[in-house]
Amino acid sequence: MRSLSILGATGSIGASTLDLVRRNRDMFRVVSLTGHSNVVLLAQLAREFSAEIAVVGDEALLPDLRAALAGSGIEAAGGAPALIDAARRPADLTVAAIVGCAGLAPTMAAIEQGRTVALANKEALVSAGGVMTRAVARHGTTLLPVDSEHNAIFQCLAGNDVAHVRWVTLTASGGPFRDWSTDRLHLATPAEAVRHPNWSMGAKISVDSATMMNKGLEFIEAWHLFPVGVERLRIIVHPQSIVHSMVEYRDGTTLAQLGPSDMRVPIASALAWPARMATPCEPLDLAAIGTLTFRAPDEVRFPATRLAREAVMAGGAAAAVMNAANEIAVAAFMSGQIAFTRIVQCCEDVLACGVPMPPQCLDDVIAVDREARIRARETMALAI
Ligand code: NAD
Ligand code: MG
Repeated sequence: MRSLSILGATGSIGASTLDLVRRNRDMFRVVSLTGHSNVVLLAQLAREFSAEIAVVGDEALLPDLRAALAGSGIEAAGGAPALIDAARRPADLTVAAIVGCAGLAPTMAAIEQGRTVALANKEALVSAGGVMTRAVARHGTTLLPVDSEHNAIFQCLAGNDVAHVRWVTLTASGGPFRDWSTDRLHLATPAEAVRHPNWSMGAKISVDSATMMNKGLEFIEAWHLFPVGVERLRIIVHPQSIVHSMVEYRDGTTLAQLGPSDMRVPIASALAWPARMATPCEPLDLAAIGTLTFRAPDEVRFPATRLAREAVMAGGAAAAVMNAANEIAVAAFMSGQIAFTRIVQCCEDVLACGVPMPPQCLDDVIAVDREARIRARETMALAI
């Protein structure tokens, strides 16, 4: 039996992870579960899985969490420092599934345990970059990618030397607007943006999929996880989301990982790694699917992947700046303050203000993130 913590247990990845744990109760003992504000769900999950501790990110809700856990013997805590403490509790495996840079400090705390971290929180890696990968190396941590593309690449690289890699190809569904004209994109609403054709996900990543910034963030994530060099990383649009990514070797062999569009597959791969565990997902029926199609991304309508590639080339803290601007712009779009097409424009505008030096430590990353958020708000205010 392995001990398991889930940072972001009340979200979409948290739910998929706990669904697998529920079906395999003999495999895991739950240590920490965290959520941001859904105290009712958090307390219910903590009771169901007999967690040691439940932590609510919004400290004002701690009394509610305490009340909801009364008599259970489960500890309750609240606030950002408590999230970090929860991530520090010894656990064989931590699933990092908070959305956004808010997950950075807890994810780093989990990494510093030197055990295994299953990473879904891509924004944390995009922002912290070398600070995070150096911490992984220093603490001897095993970092298992949960993002479906990176999990696919991780599996396709197993047993091979990256020196033989010709291409790492990230597949992209293209999101709900992949066939929309630029004129139509200007008018896209939040409700349309979160309606992803293939995947059921949290709101922020759904909007990122619609702008293709999700693929931009994933490009940077891949650049950090798989040291093949930026010139060997590429993106291809694959509307069916069946091939989750590919690795081509110099002998002409291409290995791909295929599966249903269900995050329980990559999560199970990380939870059981290096073994395998069963999932309730339907077996892949390629005859029923019939056709798999691929096409080049259109970076005129969807400039986010170009921006991400440029951020990698620019180095410094460019990726952290881009990520922070995107988080602010996505929130502004969701609350009806800016048009859909201004999200990526805002990222580009903030990057054009200049790129700070590469962060050397977690505090540097947090400072860059904070500054870029202020810039993003200023940029949008100027444009409205
Ligand atoms: P979600 O919005 O459904 O859940 C996010 C979780 O983070 C929730 O538990 C929420 O309470 C918590 N949270 C949000 N803000 C917080 C804060 N300020 N402090 C502490 N906790 C906070 O998001 P999701 O779709 O589960 O995505 C989680 C992460 O996984 C994201 O980084 C996303 O990019 C990545 N990811 C998700 C999917 C997917 O299919 N959902 C696939 C690949 C990668
Ligand atoms: Mg992905």
